[in-house]
Amino acid sequence: MINLTEIKKMLRKMEYPKHCIHCEGIDEKIENPVHHPSYEITAACNLNCIFCYSKVAEIKGSAPKPGYYGTLEPKAITISQYGEPFVVGTEKVVEIIRKLREQFGEVRIDIQTNGTLLDPSKLGSEADIVMISLDAGSREKYREITGTDLFEKAVKSIEQMASQTYTIVRTVFMPSVNNGELESIAEVASIADELFLQPLSIYRENKKLLELIDVERSESIGEFLEAAYRLSETAEVRIPGCLLLNIRSFLKKYDIGDLMLVKRNAFGSVPVMQREWKFRLQ
Ligand code: SF4
Repeated sequence: MINLTEIKKMLRKMEYPKHCIHCEGIDEKIENPVHHPSYEITAACNLNCIFCYSKVAEIKGSAPKPGYYGTLEPKAITISQYGEPFVVGTEKVVEIIRKLREQFGEVRIDIQTNGTLLDPSKLGSEADIVMISLDAGSREKYREITGTDLFEKAVKSIEQMASQTYTIVRTVFMPSVNNGELESIAEVASIADELFLQPLSIYRENKKLLELIDVERSESIGEFLEAAYRLSETAEVRIPGCLLLNIRSFLKKYDIGDLMLVKRNAFGSVPVMQREWKFRLQ
């Protein structure tokens, strides 16, 4: 039985994910917010995830070239929104972090990674936030979703990074694909600082996902929030800051029962970089 009062309480108390602080997405005064700056290393990746937007961008020719995108007065920089940064090796990523700090001074550096190539002993606490994707709670499901047998390595990276820096486990909510795995993922994430639960974006180019996914449930805000609520018993659950902001403004006019019935459009168009390319580090 879903307890709507409890879900409402969770939404009122939930903090923004640390990664979303300084992003325009949580500033209600900005009409068309864009993600905070990123440094793109490569669009290449060692996994082949069934839901990946970076892969779609590569197919469509919209994947960004390497370099820095966004304002030259950043408060936070993400490495990187496309591809897997550690394809170039942990030493190289550390070198890039240090150069970005040299150039911009006080800046938060967030890394988005699948965690299977990074060497925690070399990365140490160089990054302020490490966000590691984990979309399965078992080796079999991980293989089905990513096309690789690297579940244990991803989990080990989470465990090691959690003792070194602020660590976020990032999980895409995919009804009929990984909903049965969420509790196990939350167990792994319980040692991390946050479990960042993300709604799914579906791209028609990701054919395997289209065969497996329950579109209607993926579009249901109610299903998504129920999952977030359930997992919050095990891990420090966060949802995307921009979504939380919109939900809170919806709840100023409507009640929680209405919110649970809202459907979002899960289908995305070609992913494009929304910020301008500025430079590439040598
Ligand atoms: S989830 Fe939304 S608010 Fe958070 S960093 Fe991404 S775009 Fe910004």
